[in-house]
Amino acid sequence: MSSTEHEVSISTDCPPPPFVQRFAAHLATLGENMQIRRALPNRERRMVGAWCFLDHFGPVDIRAGRGMRVGPHPHIGLQTFSWLLEGEVYHRDSLGFEQLIRSGAVNLMTAGHGIAHSEESPPNHSAIMHGAQLWIALPDDEFERPPWFEHYAELPVFNEDGITVTVLAGDFMGRISPAKVYTPLLGLDLNAGSAASSTLPLRRDFEHAVIVLDGEARLNGETLVPGECLYFGCGHDALAVETDAAARILLIGGEPFKSERILYWNFVGRNGADIREATSEWNAGDARFGEVHGYDGDRLPAPDVPKLRGE
Ligand code: MN
Repeated sequence: MSSTEHEVSISTDCPPPPFVQRFAAHLATLGENMQIRRALPNRERRMVGAWCFLDHFGPVDIRAGRGMRVGPHPHIGLQTFSWLLEGEVYHRDSLGFEQLIRSGAVNLMTAGHGIAHSEESPPNHSAIMHGAQLWIALPDDEFERPPWFEHYAELPVFNEDGITVTVLAGDFMGRISPAKVYTPLLGLDLNAGSAASSTLPLRRDFEHAVIVLDGEARLNGETLVPGECLYFGCGHDALAVETDAAARILLIGGEPFKSERILYWNFVGRNGADIREATSEWNAGDARFGEVHGYDGDRLPAPDVPKLRGE
């Protein structure tokens, strides 16, 4: 997927405890037609650990149209992390990987030095599409690593007080996600099938954020619905989760990211030069990004780069 807005963001220090912040996701359009709620980056909050981008799309009925259509576009300096609740997305990248992702699985693409990919609904797709795409910033010593793609068909799932917990990234209550990440991170899908109440342990050295994907939930007493985000700074050791009915929650967390990053279009750069170089090389068709084969549509040109932070 790709960011269709042109945003600049940097990492921020984890505020001292007990810090809780509420902010709204903003609405944006993904690719040709998909309305999404973008929780990160946000004016109020740029990153949560190394998580630097969070789009929530759907649930949307795509029977009438072609569904998701995001043409070939490049990435650097990040991993894209795709998680579906309903529907399917077909991924193609410039390393030659092609992968259909369904609910319950993760597609994790490591861009590192550079990769290009497309994402689209397959021809015989389900009626409803619902999911999230996140980006994970790579730390300085992994920033230039070679690109790679992994599909994880199964993740650790367990029940805790009536909540089905899926460990998307990192480790939680003794369960370890197979997803290969490069900084201390946590990603959890919390699925309450009906009214539920549980208190989940948090790492005090992590900052965390929560969005509701479906329904309504109370997190440490704060009511949350889709389109709203709650951020918990470092120092919290528990998250009380309560629902009165079925609800689906996405929790992300991580060690506060140690270096500054600039997000611009589909690039995460250490500085403006990283962004400018990637932009000109993508637009020139440079071999750095390779080619995506098989997508029925145009590659997305990178927009002109404005003056960036530090320039
Ligand atoms: Mn993308």
